[in-house]
Amino acid sequence: DREEPNYFGAGPALLPTSVLQQAGKDLINYNNLGIGAGEISHRSKAGVGIIEQTKASLKELLSIPDTHEVFFLQGGGTTGFSSIVTNLTAAHVKKHHKAGTPYYVIDGTWSKKSFEEAERLGFNPKVIVNSKEIDGKFGTIPPTEKWNIPKDLSDASFIYYCDNETVNGVEFRTFPFEKFPGVEIAADMSSNFLSKPVDVSKYGLIFAGAQKNVGVSGISIYIIKKSLLDQAPAEELRKLGLQVTPIAFDYPTVVKNNSAYNTIPTFTVHIVNLVLKDLIAKGGLAAQEKENIAKSDLLYSTLDKYPSIYKLPVEKSVRSRMNIVFTIEGSGLEDQFLKEAEQSKLEGLKGHRSVGGMRASLYNAVTLKSTKLLCELIERFAKEHQ
Ligand code: PMP
Repeated sequence: DREEPNYFGAGPALLPTSVLQQAGKDLINYNNLGIGAGEISHRSKAGVGIIEQTKASLKELLSIPDTHEVFFLQGGGTTGFSSIVTNLTAAHVKKHHKAGTPYYVIDGTWSKKSFEEAERLGFNPKVIVNSKEIDGKFGTIPPTEKWNIPKDLSDASFIYYCDNETVNGVEFRTFPFEKFPGVEIAADMSSNFLSKPVDVSKYGLIFAGAQKNVGVSGISIYIIKKSLLDQAPAEELRKLGLQVTPIAFDYPTVVKNNSAYNTIPTFTVHIVNLVLKDLIAKGGLAAQEKENIAKSDLLYSTLDKYPSIYKLPVEKSVRSRMNIVFTIEGSGLEDQFLKEAEQSKLEGLKGHRSVGGMRASLYNAVTLKSTKLLCELIERFAKEHQ
């Protein structure tokens, strides 16, 4: 057991205590089998059952249509953006017999890394928009009218974007690609997955590392349009001079083997299922979104009350509901704030090492109560120091 933590870490992040209590029991003795969920074979009835149940819970929670398939892969978010390029290109080659071009929206640190990986793998990706070129700091996302979109997108193998940039604290509030029908959209939703309802039918591929809203690290969730599993064979890709996907990350192979082509971390997947069931029991994603809006609105409005001390680098219209970033004006005050936070048992508030400042992550499991405690500190600190 534990005292309810007030933990705002960006990932790995907080999970509901009740979920962890159940997981703890299941780690020792799963379903009265006499052994734990981490000890059973991924090919046993119970192991396959965990994969099946987790897929079913996700399909229920997100109302995933029959056009799409769910699968799991080890390797985190980085494996997601590394494996997308070869897989989606192979799907494009199957249809068009040429490589095509991957297009990237760069709206923060993670989409930049994803773009660089596509370059490193030799796929000649193109940038549709890079928001850092606009404000010098990834604190904005320009409207689509200002993006550098080619008139003819028929060669696009996919358009890639990151729905919530964890480091920079920017988030797309609406789906930005309504105007480009026919192009496959690939989205990194690692840090806002299951924080709100999503219309899966609009996407070619969604992926998310589990360790923010959905579980512990060690597994990532993928939702793919089934047509993108029809991919060109390795020989054709090689003839075109294209990198072939390593077998462990080859989506058609993984799907054909029900996510168990190799040993899947069964216990880690089980934790995801417990989180999903908990979300379903609490009223689903619309209810969760409402709560997330209430928490983030409260935190932003509290910070906005004291503009002389708290600086928010992100433009209001694209402020993330998951990762709230701010800096504190005045020498030594950020360290002082962190110290006082720790004294009040408010943890995990230090900003990402690349940008500094503060970051409060308000993932699903962070309660309104914790958010209110943080707001009390923010008020108190401002009154003392402004
Ligand atoms: N994408 C996003 C949006 C992330 O926040 C992160 C990790 N913080 C990653 C990708 C990389 O995830 P991992 O460390 O699991 O590879």
